[in-house]
Amino acid sequence: MSFSTPKTITILGATGSVGLSTLDLVRRNPDQFKIVALTANSNVQLLAKLAVEFDAELAVIGDANKFSELKDALAGKPIKAAAGEGALVEAAQADASIVMAAIVGAAGLRPTLAGIRRGATIALANKECLVCAGELMIEEAQNSGATILPVDSEHNAIFQVFDFNADRSVEKIILTASGGPFWNKRSDCLKDVTPAEAVKHPNWDMGRKISVDSATMMNKGLEVIEAFHLFPVRADQIEVLVHPQSVVHSMVQYIDGSVLAQLGSPDMRTPIAYAISWPNRLNAPVERLSLADIGQLTFAKPDFDRFPCLQQAMDALKNGGSAPIVLNAANEVAVEAFLAERIGFKDISSVVHSALTKLDMKAPHSLSMVFEMDREARAVAKAIVAKISI
Ligand code: NAD
Ligand code: MG
Repeated sequence: MSFSTPKTITILGATGSVGLSTLDLVRRNPDQFKIVALTANSNVQLLAKLAVEFDAELAVIGDANKFSELKDALAGKPIKAAAGEGALVEAAQADASIVMAAIVGAAGLRPTLAGIRRGATIALANKECLVCAGELMIEEAQNSGATILPVDSEHNAIFQVFDFNADRSVEKIILTASGGPFWNKRSDCLKDVTPAEAVKHPNWDMGRKISVDSATMMNKGLEVIEAFHLFPVRADQIEVLVHPQSVVHSMVQYIDGSVLAQLGSPDMRTPIAYAISWPNRLNAPVERLSLADIGQLTFAKPDFDRFPCLQQAMDALKNGGSAPIVLNAANEVAVEAFLAERIGFKDISSVVHSALTKLDMKAPHSLSMVFEMDREARAVAKAIVAKISI
């Protein structure tokens, strides 16, 4: 195994939780990776600092109003500065062999697709874009020869134990779920939980949006849809299993009764390392798993009554058409409103439910239809939020 030429890599969403974990691995393995482009939404100072540290060729800030601030921060450095949505796409188009797609939300769809269209290897953390446009993304990847490698810990685990040469011998995929910070809370206590409580995940340190999604278990629902697009299985072959320790990251069950699992400490640097160095393995500075210290691993069935978002997502996958797009858009709007303390925790699933019942189920045939449906769903969800705002 030779690492004489470093792999070139662009990170979309470099200033976020996944982006910074990726950069941590790059920092520790300077001979193996070379950064091409870094992007962020609004944190100019951190973006500029990282672009200088990693000697990037291009730094892109999503917020077009921050272009001059970025240019000033990079003055005198040989780093091209750019801003706005179009420039995010340019970053993905820059000539890097790997694109780490770590923007949060459907905002990541256009740039991720740009990487797919030029046949890059996509390390995919941004699950929302698969939820919105899974079929189209996979089709585009097949056309361009792009490789999509899952970064999400569950999907990365499945990728490690799924026998792609014998997919018909796979009986089911078992996605594990921590259950989030409220797994042990009674239903009547959930209505008063605060954003600060919701983002405090017991096992994982993540961005605010995915942390709230974990608390509602919408995250697991989005992951069911993500798994459906990434692996050759039917929707009814994907099962969710609550596992509060987050040690078993997911499993694949075969027709002979064998169940293969991938285990590890809950640290995103393990799945990120696997995605960016596949098919090789990269040394990752994560705490080694000590099962003797952990002692017990527990499992339970999901509770669809207390966590209706999980069922909503599974139904959206089954119903198809625009349902996953509406589900995702309404959820993004609702989570933002919850974080801004405009609606309560339980309102998140109500907003998603109302949006799903208000919008019909036509299937998107093109990317422009996906964007149109996403826009429409956001407008409807915002109107629902405005009605119930605290
Ligand atoms: P985060 O909020 O920490 O970071 C998001 C990044 O995207 C930031 O760099 C931000 O600047 C950028 N961004 C946000 N909105 C943007 C916009 N409109 N345009 C351009 N850039 C924008 O999020 P995260 O926790 O790192 O999650 C990123 C993605 O990875 C999400 O889709 C999440 O579901 C997925 N994921 C995260 C984890 C985790 O441990 N954090 C695990 C599995 C999957
Ligand atoms: Mg996950």
